[in-house]
Amino acid sequence: MAVHAGGLEIRFLTGSQHLYGESVLAQVAEQSRAVVDVLNEGGEIPVPVVWTPVLTGAEAIRRVCLDATADDRCIGVIAWMHTFSPAKAWIAGMDALRKPLLHLHTQANRSLPWGEIDMDFMNLNQAAHGDREFGYIEARMGVRRKVVVGHASDPDVRRRVATWARAATGWNAAQTLRLARFGDNMRDVAVTEADKVEAQIRFGFSVNTYGVNELVAAVDGAPDRAVSDVVESWEQSYSLAPELATGGERRESLVYAARVEAGLRSFLEPGGFGAFTSNFEDLGGLRQLPGIGVQRLMSEGYGFAGEGDWKTAALVRVLKVMSEGLDGGVSFMEDYSYHFGPGEPKVLGAHMLEVCPSIAGERPRVEIHPLSIGAREDPVRLVFDALPASGYVVGLLDLGDRFRLVANEVEIVPPDAPLLRLPVARAVWRPAPSLAVAAESWILAGGPHHTALSTAAGIDVLEDFATMAGAELVRIGRDTVPSEFLRELRWNDAYYRMAAGRGR
Ligand code: MN
Repeated sequence: MAVHAGGLEIRFLTGSQHLYGESVLAQVAEQSRAVVDVLNEGGEIPVPVVWTPVLTGAEAIRRVCLDATADDRCIGVIAWMHTFSPAKAWIAGMDALRKPLLHLHTQANRSLPWGEIDMDFMNLNQAAHGDREFGYIEARMGVRRKVVVGHASDPDVRRRVATWARAATGWNAAQTLRLARFGDNMRDVAVTEADKVEAQIRFGFSVNTYGVNELVAAVDGAPDRAVSDVVESWEQSYSLAPELATGGERRESLVYAARVEAGLRSFLEPGGFGAFTSNFEDLGGLRQLPGIGVQRLMSEGYGFAGEGDWKTAALVRVLKVMSEGLDGGVSFMEDYSYHFGPGEPKVLGAHMLEVCPSIAGERPRVEIHPLSIGAREDPVRLVFDALPASGYVVGLLDLGDRFRLVANEVEIVPPDAPLLRLPVARAVWRPAPSLAVAAESWILAGGPHHTALSTAAGIDVLEDFATMAGAELVRIGRDTVPSEFLRELRWNDAYYRMAAGRGR
């Protein structure tokens, strides 16, 4: 599936007022166009920034905000008060705007011309107070936004804008994401449950369950040609165990696994689904737990999680959209086992089968092994070690009165010794600041065992996404101290209850 549709854009709004007169406003327009050009030319921002005419009055501002809200191409708005734009003129517009907002606090001139500066220069370059006037009304109205300060030619400024733009692509994808669950939750599990209606109100994505035998019908009905196409593409991309290769004694199991992938495609594509879940307890007429097929679909951009865990599947999808075009990958993941020592403590992350090859550090091997739970035939899966890289794991949980994202910075490292007998794809990582502090903090936050692992879009992108959603995000990283982290959780409890859904 396409990770996200093309044709998206970000609108650039420039604030000013009539008092300056036509010639100054013409200069304002010219300079704001130049700022937009510099933003686009940097190449960091994944979506084109589109200039719009300078705004000088309340009705035009309201109209441009309504248009941005109504236009599906527009995934966010950047606003800059080039000059002084009395902010009462922005009230109706900010009230109408339902797209992510970035307040760029910049100035056309990078430097003050110390020797030549006169009152005309000062009157033209007055974002220093114009943007503060705008900031007041944003704060007063509780507008969710990101503020970025600096000259557009500064790569750090463009990177911060790009981070927000990536978050906006994820936010946009979440608004229309349809997620298919084959079967319900793994029975009696708590953390994978949640309020689907509230999730749709908060994040936009819709979650619906299908009886697994609807998938079985699609699998059984997949044309042989589609199945052989899948087999062929696996043979090109991966190394097959001899028993699964042409003429191998277990070739038939590989062909059935390919049929599962073809069936999943024929269900998900026409239905417009961008994410899905399976459940090893509810396999109906499926002969194998879906393994390699799920891994492949994840690598193409689908969100996925096991055991009916739709929250994690949606997160995987959103992170994949936000990561488009970046090095690294995004996978469904589970904290599986620990290495407390000797040496540096580490986490071994994996799942029964379904780890995405976008994080692989080697050519994945197609293998078949027994699955000790599930009472089905041995499933075919991709096996590999993850590429060493920095990244983070993030989980989404429902606290009853709000959703919480918990993110932990991690460093994926090679295993201490080759994992010769482990028949699943895996990642070994050092959580920051340490396994002990990270796990203590994660458990204090109620973080789930299932996560999305990203070595692509960074944690700052996730933070901007959380702001867009008005969702709580707690970060566990280099500077985390459990006692302070616990205080943050307590403050957040008070804050989110008082904010009552209006969290910024
Ligand atoms: Mn699991």
